[in-house]
Amino acid sequence: MALIVQKYGGTSVGTIERIEAVAEKVIKFRQDGHDVVVVVSAMSGETNRLLGLASDVMERPDPRELDVLVSTGEQVTIALLSMALKKRGWDARSYTGGQVRILTDDSHGKARIQDIDGDKMRDDLNAGRVVVVAGFQGVDADGNITTLGRGGSDTTGVALAAALGADECQIYTDVDGVYTTDPRVVEDARRLEQITFEEMLEMASLGSKVLQIRSVEFAGKYKVPLRVLSSFKEGPGTLITIDNEEDDSMEQPLISGIAFNRDEAKLTLVGVPDIPGVASRILGPVGDQNVEVDMIVQNIGQDGTTDFTFTVHRNEYEKAEEILTQICTDLGAREVVGDNKIAKVSIVGVGMRSHAGVASTMFRTLAKENINIQMISTSEIKVSVVIDEKYLELAVRSLHSAFELAEKE
Ligand code: ADP
Ligand code: ASP
Ligand code: MG
Repeated sequence: MALIVQKYGGTSVGTIERIEAVAEKVIKFRQDGHDVVVVVSAMSGETNRLLGLASDVMERPDPRELDVLVSTGEQVTIALLSMALKKRGWDARSYTGGQVRILTDDSHGKARIQDIDGDKMRDDLNAGRVVVVAGFQGVDADGNITTLGRGGSDTTGVALAAALGADECQIYTDVDGVYTTDPRVVEDARRLEQITFEEMLEMASLGSKVLQIRSVEFAGKYKVPLRVLSSFKEGPGTLITIDNEEDDSMEQPLISGIAFNRDEAKLTLVGVPDIPGVASRILGPVGDQNVEVDMIVQNIGQDGTTDFTFTVHRNEYEKAEEILTQICTDLGAREVVGDNKIAKVSIVGVGMRSHAGVASTMFRTLAKENINIQMISTSEIKVSVVIDEKYLELAVRSLHSAFELAEKE
């Protein structure tokens, strides 16, 4: 008998029929003798609908009230799933994040989990109940409702699994595992039997939204066995594995996957005086206004000036441009130029550590398609490039075939 935490995403609970199907699935695990804690997302589209209502009222909604609003989506599905279980004769109890006491910090909209009280859930499990918990939400020390950021139910699932010492955390979604790239973009993308935490962390942070990045961090930190599976079809899914650097016996694939992100924008401050302290005078005010900077490139100076470029989330483009225009005047730089139609494509793989030439294959492939690379950034296990957004799909497809990632015939 095992303790399993199962998380079902928005599409998996998108209609009453699907909620009933989730109930059936949960019951199968109960019939096999397992204890089950279920985490559910809001019905698909619901979180976006709620965000839309808020922005109809005010342009930049109050963060506290926004969390009160968007957390309601998950309250609907926990109740419906519990009812569907009870209708089938299985005892179940639903809890909001605050009721379980998923304690978070107070950063509304991107709160971090600090502590989870497992007692109530354990009592319910001991009494033979299925515990159904609302994903994506918690409560701060003052009792305010908080949310964990988009895709945050994944993190709730993994955090509950860690807190309860579960044997496995299963993430049920609308694809049957983690693929070499988003199967919606590349038709012959291949499901991975397994992927290391380290690679999954890179994939998630570089734009693969199949798992929220924090859920992967959590699983790695607390060694939670994590698996991504389909709600709609049977299969082994993808296991996220602990890295085993000592095991050299297995041939590592060069590249495990390709991630991409369309939500990027680029800003350049042209003709900045090339003197000490400039980077901090540019990025200091940007950071102070809570704008997160991703890639940074500074060219070598010529004639005492240089160009300074960085990328931000597309939502923050206008805000960053405003800040930069002020800095431009303060520093006596020439001008601010920007582009919010860019995308980032990244190749990820631990095999890169031991193989040279991966980046050059990437650049050659893009050159062959006549795709101009605007920025490059590398780490030990990834290479990212910024390109014009209109070439994104072409870039992903051609890289996918250049690195021979497709399903073998
Ligand atoms: P859920 O609502 O279940 O949380 P998400 O929409 O958040 O589901 O995540 C699943 C989606 O992630 C898939 O439908 C797929 O389009 C996308 N995705 C992006 N990259 C990958 C990848 N490498 N492997 C699998 N799915 C991916
Ligand atoms: N409902 C939230 C969202 O749409 C959380 C989640 O589904 O994971 O982002
Ligand atoms: Mg998700």
